[in-house]
Amino acid sequence: MPRPIKATIDLGALQHNLHQVRRHAGSSAVLAVIKADAYGHGALRVAHALAAADGFALLELDAAARLRESGYKQRIVLLEGVFEVADLHVADNLGLALVIHNHQQLRLLDFARTGTQFDVFLKINTGMNRLGFTPHAAGRVLDQLKAHRAVRQLVLMAHFASADEARGVAWQMKVFNDVAAGRNLPISLANSAALLRYPETCGDWVRPGIVLYGCSPFADVSADQLGLKPVMTLTSEIIAVQELAAGARIGYGGVFEAEHAMRVGIVACGYADGYPRHAPTGTPTLVGGRRTRTLGRVAMDMLCVDLSGFPEVSVGTPVTLWGQGLSADEVAFCAGTVSYELLCALSPRVPVREI
Ligand SMILES: *Cc1c(COP(=O)(O)O)cnc(C)c1O
Repeated sequence: MPRPIKATIDLGALQHNLHQVRRHAGSSAVLAVIKADAYGHGALRVAHALAAADGFALLELDAAARLRESGYKQRIVLLEGVFEVADLHVADNLGLALVIHNHQQLRLLDFARTGTQFDVFLKINTGMNRLGFTPHAAGRVLDQLKAHRAVRQLVLMAHFASADEARGVAWQMKVFNDVAAGRNLPISLANSAALLRYPETCGDWVRPGIVLYGCSPFADVSADQLGLKPVMTLTSEIIAVQELAAGARIGYGGVFEAEHAMRVGIVACGYADGYPRHAPTGTPTLVGGRRTRTLGRVAMDMLCVDLSGFPEVSVGTPVTLWGQGLSADEVAFCAGTVSYELLCALSPRVPVREI
């Protein structure tokens, strides 16, 4: 029998979440963001379930190649563009749309083969200050791209820094609108948070990621409240039960000490499976469908859970680490991170099952 840990990917939930996205996006086209192996869910699997999306966005050329090999004809956007001439030719062969965010990438376009044309997403830095041309430089770059032999469609793009927070998007929208004014170009701005909270950002192409996977982009609103369904559920089983005497410690460093005699379950799941090592004592888990908490340090292959008041639990009892019944958002919050990181960290050693 294999080790009992597995990730279950709910394809129906993916489709449900796409439907929710469409409700918010109105007539905007949907670029499903499937970078990082679709946030750990498997890019091809997710593309298959989301074949009704208008396009896909990712950063990895090899994943884009696999999508094309599998017959996907939709627009595929490379979110960080290309890094060298060789990649430009690969992108050409695959028919990919390119983000262009700096002058080096602009110059790379000059190496495009004769007759080749790319759809280009020109990225404007509206205040996030990671990628993109300054509003000051944007006008000239736009003129250059419009006249460039290797450019077919031009889309204006920006990314929000605080769409999930009180700071909002208005300050970035103002910068963007000044650049876009009078240009009459298609635009792409909204990530998940902006899509849900600021419909005025939806434009021509929305770029949802995390909501498709059924997690909330907001700290103060749950995925459930947003009508989203979790896609990945990480489950395992109790593989040992220990009876601790008062004063006994458990796991590496002995960081958890039993105040009184208690039962503890050992779960076959650790940081090598993708569970966050920094999740402290008290992080929620479901054992046999009931909520309890982790104890002590998460190890490479195992973690410990409190079985006080769980007399029925024994070796083989199922455990849910996150997903159905326990949101990844909540577990991530306890571990001081966000659901994105948990989902992306799912280890290749964990078998995946689709439902
Ligand atoms: C990752 C990414 C997104 C999706 O963000 P979510 O918060 O997951 O919706 C959108 N746009 C760009 C440029 C990205 O890199």
